Amino acid sequence: MTSIPGLVVDERRHSHVLQAPLAAPRGGIMLHYDDSSRDDWAVEWFSDPRCTNGYTWLVLDDGRVVELADPAHRTPHAGACKTPLANSVFYGVAAATNGLVLATDPQLASIAATCVALLRHHGWTPETIPHGIVGHDEQAVWTPAYTPRRALWGTLGRKVDPTGQRLDRQPIIGVNDVQRRIAASF
Ligand SMILES: [Zn+2]
Repeated sequence: MTSIPGLVVDERRHSHVLQAPLAAPRGGIMLHYDDSSRDDWAVEWFSDPRCTNGYTWLVLDDGRVVELADPAHRTPHAGACKTPLANSVFYGVAAATNGLVLATDPQLASIAATCVALLRHHGWTPETIPHGIVGHDEQAVWTPAYTPRRALWGTLGRKVDPTGQRLDRQPIIGVNDVQRRIAASF
């Protein structure tokens, strides 16, 4: 089992999430929310055999980090994306929240700290990280496996996380906000 130096994990719950060897080197970090409404249910869901989602880290609303998979393995968090082999290329970090409830300040701080530890571990900076720190919604594309509508294939719109769809347009997780927090640590 691999652990990332400097990355604070409050709980490890490995082996329930599907894991497979990396198909491409790590090169970026993808941010998500998991669409949960309560943290305790969120953590339980990843132990459910019906769960096909797989983030490496789930960040609870009090900022605690649950490690769901060995960070050295790929998990099914990204699916078809603009970047090929996105499940491998991107680490998957999710906030336990949904499309309406804003990520909390401790959650955002913890997500940023997780990113900083990953950057340091790989010797990247916010400027040199090869595939960047991205939201799922700016990467996830439609493919024939997801829709028969040929006109959509290859286009964005398959996912709305981590921005969400609030009427007031506030993002659930502002990727820019996380990037600002990360930059402040460098
Ligand atoms: Zn996602």
